[in-house]
Amino acid sequence: MKALVYGGGQLARMMYLAGCPLGIHVRAVDVNKDQVINPISKTPAKVTLAEAVDDADVITVEFEHVPEHLLKLADETGKLKPGITAIRAGADRVKEKNLLASLDIPTSEFRVMSNVSELPEIVEQLGTPLVLKASRDGYDGYGQWRLKDKSDISELSLALSKLDLHTVPIIVEKMINFSREVSLVGVRSQTGEFAFYPLVENHHHEGQLHLTIAPAPQITENLQAQAENIFKKLAEELDYVGVLAVEFFQVEEQLLVNEIAPRVHNSGHWTMQGADTCQFENHLRAVCGLPLGSTELRSATAMVNIIGCGSFSRDMLAIPGCHIHWYGKTARAKRKLGHFNVSASDKATLSSRLLELQKHLPEESFPLLKSLAENLQ
Ligand code: ATP
Ligand code: MG
Ligand code: MG
Repeated sequence: MKALVYGGGQLARMMYLAGCPLGIHVRAVDVNKDQVINPISKTPAKVTLAEAVDDADVITVEFEHVPEHLLKLADETGKLKPGITAIRAGADRVKEKNLLASLDIPTSEFRVMSNVSELPEIVEQLGTPLVLKASRDGYDGYGQWRLKDKSDISELSLALSKLDLHTVPIIVEKMINFSREVSLVGVRSQTGEFAFYPLVENHHHEGQLHLTIAPAPQITENLQAQAENIFKKLAEELDYVGVLAVEFFQVEEQLLVNEIAPRVHNSGHWTMQGADTCQFENHLRAVCGLPLGSTELRSATAMVNIIGCGSFSRDMLAIPGCHIHWYGKTARAKRKLGHFNVSASDKATLSSRLLELQKHLPEESFPLLKSLAENLQ
């Protein structure tokens, strides 16, 4: 089978690699150039976009911010999976929040702001502190602002007055005092079956995911069931096919949805070593109409993102259970260049392996690793 993926980054690359043993050939599209590329070498393919669309059995996405003309082109062929409504909901926070509200899914209270003059009134209604998010094109914490208290209103209004909120409104939402962030990665097949990975715990630094622990420690049956029920509601409403990720804030025993990602997700990278079938294979299985693979846990795994720092050493690979996935990108500050998956049969061993890894890494690029590894013990 042939799959075409909109987006040519590491997620398309990992889908390509997962497709090889299944005999599924993956091509990628650089959506800024409307150009078909090889997902590994990034070199242009010898086919036009129209030919590749025609040739593909299925078209999918590795990120949600796909230009509308490309989404429509794929949608018209009937090959786009997940469907256009799901992708648009992931790309537009107004649509996303309205979807959550229409399904009665708990999320942070919010207002849509289309004119900066509305800010004082919104602050009055929601109270403080608040998080403001551009409704489109935000990722890794970009396009976000914090409002601690009323005294921030005038400075923030000035900064936002340079933006066209009429075209791209801002979501103003309550800052949630969560105990931790968790996410659920799951998959729905073309025939409506679900498979879920266990909830994982995510740690962010400056808006970017740095570390995922799978499974999340101290997950009750109740929390896993809450997450799966929310996932099912969303996926059924969207007639979803493929891998979907739902990010949550945990507040006591309740999960609030932060956002959804209609694709394979960074917090699912641990599945490449930690689960029976990885998220990339399961996404391909789902969108190609094949049976889903088992999502069973193989071993506790921590995923450590390699951000901004450009190399790895033999010493790291010598750590038992430590695997590297290197994306072949040029190093740049805040750029995700690869990730480590560190697996172990118990939490204490996982902790000591992570501490060993930490010794070989620059502290400034991996600021959370040491304390989180120690806390696992
Ligand atoms: P991603 O790369 O996950 O797509 P993003 O740019 O879409 O990131 P969010 O996931 O909305 O951004 O926010 C990034 C991080 O900022 C969250 O993981 C969380 O740590 C923090 N954050 C966002 N919204 C809130 C909120 N309402 N209350 C508290 N913290 C928040
Ligand atoms: Mg996001
Ligand atoms: Mg997020």
